[in-house]
Amino acid sequence: MAAEVNIPGVIDGHVSEQGDTVFPCFCCGICCSDYQPHLDTAESQLIADRLGMSLQKFYDDCTDPRWPGIDTHLLLHKDGMCLFLQQTKGINKWLCRIHDFKPAACREWAAGLKKKECRKGLQRYWGLSVDDSGKITGTSENLAGFLTFLKTLD
Ligand code: SF4
Ligand code: SF4
Repeated sequence: MAAEVNIPGVIDGHVSEQGDTVFPCFCCGICCSDYQPHLDTAESQLIADRLGMSLQKFYDDCTDPRWPGIDTHLLLHKDGMCLFLQQTKGINKWLCRIHDFKPAACREWAAGLKKKECRKGLQRYWGLSVDDSGKITGTSENLAGFLTFLKTLD
């Protein structure tokens, strides 16, 4: 039987400036698989420096050769996802290996229950949906599993 949940302290009706319900990123990695962040030269240089590689090697190894831009680049995808995305062994938790210096496009992206990418992750990994009123719905078992997982996040 389907149940629904408002997660106390997590979903409390607070709505962001973008009009979406504030919700923590639950690290499904869908946005990092569906999109390739755009980088300007300064961002590319910063990431290259932090990775200890030359700018040219960063371009060669970490950006998409199909992108026609010269002053801008797209992060490379490998196996259908950003090359910096890494699954935490054995669980549905995907983390960014360059989190501390990831591109602005990634820093500015916020999770939200109106976002189709977050909904896709909820459905794919937790078997949950979001109803018309913005509540997460699913079986009691799936909801319990997701709530337990959320408590493990920082
Ligand atoms: S740089 Fe990190 S946050 Fe950005 S798409 Fe890649 S894995 Fe995701
Ligand atoms: S799709 Fe949403 S929940 Fe999944 S990683 Fe991206 S922001 Fe986080």
